[in-house]
Amino acid sequence: MAEIVIMVTGSSGMVGHGIQLALEEDKKPNEKWIFLSSKDADLRDREATKILFEKYKPTHVVHLAAKVGGLFNNMEHNCDFYLHNGPPHFSSYGYSYAKRMIEVMNYVYNDQYGCQFTSIIPCNVFGPHDNFNLTGGHMLAGLIHKAYLAERYDQPFVIWGTGKPLRQFIYSVDLGRLIIWVLREYPEIEPIILAADEEDEISIRDTGELVVKAFGYQGEIVHDVSKSEGQFKKTASNAKLRKYLPDFKFTPIKQAIEETVDWFRKNYEIAKK
Ligand code: GDP
Repeated sequence: MAEIVIMVTGSSGMVGHGIQLALEEDKKPNEKWIFLSSKDADLRDREATKILFEKYKPTHVVHLAAKVGGLFNNMEHNCDFYLHNGPPHFSSYGYSYAKRMIEVMNYVYNDQYGCQFTSIIPCNVFGPHDNFNLTGGHMLAGLIHKAYLAERYDQPFVIWGTGKPLRQFIYSVDLGRLIIWVLREYPEIEPIILAADEEDEISIRDTGELVVKAFGYQGEIVHDVSKSEGQFKKTASNAKLRKYLPDFKFTPIKQAIEETVDWFRKNYEIAKK
């Protein structure tokens, strides 16, 4: 079997750790995985990137390195993400178009050079090693950090917005498993949506309740309706994923939140926040 060398960029974050956890249960002897982060090279520097490729000679790359953040970070820093003109949801159009341009790039590289690049479109991801920053991070990470403080300092737990918007979530370890599958098996250039089933869509309010339950917090839950809600819903169809993997089992959200809360509690000092 030919050796496959897989270089993972941006692997110090939540998704990189998701892949590492998923690999523990699914190693292949002919695969060598190299996990890199910004400490290894600045990928915006062409020469540094070239040196990295010459050093590891990857046959495959899982490119996770990116500027990421939650709704509020996207709203404040649209310009830093922005690459193209047009109308996705106003709250994150810079981020959204940067993502869309990856798809365009993958098609042109396939047309011109025959490269087998593809991209994935996950729904809202959460899990250990996320950025738990209270304002700039992702929603579930923010809620977990807020619930931690509410329980510890006996203060109200504040959910931003009405709590009515709906979201599909994917646990980072499930996402890691699916990224490994995409790398090994997925044959298309067209992106694939990696999302939980539509019937598992859940409101922000119910998500918040799962978080406080995981902490055993019994205090007051308050809504700050002066805060933005983003899109009401962003339901994505996982029909294509289900066509390929009809039997894939997503970790139930309650269990995944409990595991993430447990990780955050144990790693509070080192967690990114
Ligand atoms: P994000 O990218 O993880 O921020 O998620 P979305 O943009 O999909 O939406 C976040 C939703 O959660 C919005 O309806 C927010 O109003 C709501 N929300 C409630 N509390 C928080 C919080 O502490 N942080 C964030 N980022 N969103 C929150």
